[in-house]
Amino acid sequence: MNKFVHEASRSEIEQANARSRIALRDGTGVPRIGQGTWNIGEDASRRKEEVEALKLGVELGMNLIDTAEMYGEGRSETVVGEAVKGLRDKVFLVSKVYPHNAGLGRIERSCENSLKRLGTDHLDLYLLHWRGSVPLEETVEGMERLVQQGKIARWGVSNFDTDDMEELLRLARGTHCATNQVLYHLGSRGIEFDLLPWQRKRQMPIMAYSPLAQAGALRRGLVQNEAVKAVAEAHGATPLQVILAWCIREEGVIAIPKASSREHVLQNAAAALIDLSEEELRQLDRAFPEPKRKMPLDII
Ligand code: NDP
Repeated sequence: MNKFVHEASRSEIEQANARSRIALRDGTGVPRIGQGTWNIGEDASRRKEEVEALKLGVELGMNLIDTAEMYGEGRSETVVGEAVKGLRDKVFLVSKVYPHNAGLGRIERSCENSLKRLGTDHLDLYLLHWRGSVPLEETVEGMERLVQQGKIARWGVSNFDTDDMEELLRLARGTHCATNQVLYHLGSRGIEFDLLPWQRKRQMPIMAYSPLAQAGALRRGLVQNEAVKAVAEAHGATPLQVILAWCIREEGVIAIPKASSREHVLQNAAAALIDLSEEELRQLDRAFPEPKRKMPLDII
């Protein structure tokens, strides 16, 4: 193994991702670094590049792809469908239903439409995008029917805080929930106080969205931080690679960075090579402390 991440060969990156996997509650293995797709499909002139980037990610082992009916009102799902053509068996496909479509009747239609756009007969995971006005019991019933029909293999939720999760798991089949997708990155550690340990105790991984803190001022504050830069330099990595490696440093987290170029995908996949030492984690903790009290769930 090379000392520096930027020296790693493609096969070393593939091997690192093959090792870096996590089990869902039913034992299904998924990669700890997958691929997000929000804003993909928005610019037709970039479509080919986006498809190629997603395919490369799958080849490198980031074979969990997250999309949603909301993203570009289906355009993201269409691009993902193009990317997984011929590769469907290798991919763990995740999509999400809008809260207003999560009632009986509508959820079947939404799922059907997603399947059509994705060019597949089933999803590996279907998530309620966020909690709306449809009663949770009804959404669980709809999800369970889709499982019985073979249209989805399992279901989960997104943007649920601990109290929402407790309410969900009090329902008869609420315990079938496979994951909760929430915002989590070095600059937003609130879930470490209660939600993350709560889910860990129940073998229910967190799916961390915006693990690179998107783009903008918050991200700049992270990548320009002296501690992040020092750790990156020690690994021959970029600050963003350190931020991604930090996100999956412990059990129970799957990160889904979104990248629309082959170069970014390669860099994100290479983050699986980074093992942060105890001292490096302490350095990062000093710069971005863990929460000492309950924080409201960060939501985009
Ligand atoms: P991310 O934190 O993943 O950041 C994405 C941004 O980072 C893009 O601008 C991308 O640019 C850039 N980027 C990616 N890799 C690199 C790299 N190696 N170097 C430099 N820049 C890079 O933000 P997202 O909000 O997209 O979150 C990830 C995914 O999580 C979403 O795409 C979506 O699937 C999911 N999500 C779910 C939500 C929910 O409510 N459930 C809410 C928000 C996101 P470029 O495209 O040019 O590569």
